[in-house]
Amino acid sequence: MKIDLLFSYQIIQNLHLNLFSPSHHTMFYMKVTFLGTNGWYDTATGNTCSVLVQSEKFDIIFDAGNGIAKADRYITQEKPVYLFLSHFHLDHIAGLHTLVKFKFRKGLTICGQPGTKEVLDSFVREPFTVPFAKLPYQVNFLELSEGEHPVPFQTECRWLVHPVPCFGYRLVIDNKTITYCTDTGFCRNAIILARNADLLITECGLLPGEQSPEWPHLNPENAIRIAQESDAKRLALMHFGAEVYKTQHDRAMVKKQFEPSFPGLVVASDDLCIEI
Ligand SMILES: [Zn+2]
Ligand SMILES: [Zn+2]
Repeated sequence: MKIDLLFSYQIIQNLHLNLFSPSHHTMFYMKVTFLGTNGWYDTATGNTCSVLVQSEKFDIIFDAGNGIAKADRYITQEKPVYLFLSHFHLDHIAGLHTLVKFKFRKGLTICGQPGTKEVLDSFVREPFTVPFAKLPYQVNFLELSEGEHPVPFQTECRWLVHPVPCFGYRLVIDNKTITYCTDTGFCRNAIILARNADLLITECGLLPGEQSPEWPHLNPENAIRIAQESDAKRLALMHFGAEVYKTQHDRAMVKKQFEPSFPGLVVASDDLCIEI
């Protein structure tokens, strides 16, 4: 009886390995984990912006708000890590001071707009924090011009509409397309980046019906319009403005109000994980 039990345990273990082994192509789902979903500042609803995408060969992180400190809860740190920065507002880079806690054994590549290295070197340095050169792993910079690049995975970047230069990204990896557009007002480039995407991750800085032409952000209606006009298959909202979405209930109301116009709408909260 004991042997039988042991035997079945091993079968279950093998089954588990076969089903969930990342090297098993047909079974691999890309995992997207929202590490930080607040815009502007941390509150009880969450940390500032960061999203982890786990592909077969790479761990990809969009933005380095305070949520990035949670990345090592989810990754083994055995794959090369790529960090894509949209822009340099602090809710997208403040978490860079926690990079020293990680042990990225295959190194970190920071991708961003032209001038990224110079801007970050002025911020990620003493006396504020440990500089890149003293981190316990290799850090490389990849400054991208607007357009398409083999990063080594297919990457497209385009300018969004924001008070400072801000890139949106479209990544094609493991036969899946993920678009990340924040921070932005409604714009054509967001629609182009999200064309037929398996997942569009965008922002919800404004309340329903709220407009902010002088400091462009999206309300849920405009986020949905981008997803619809681009034929994105799924839409996930994050970067909920901390000042206007004060509770998870406020976010839940967005889901309730707008899911009928975009079925499957994801209203993200910190540590939510979805598979695509
Ligand atoms: Zn922001
Ligand atoms: Zn911003």
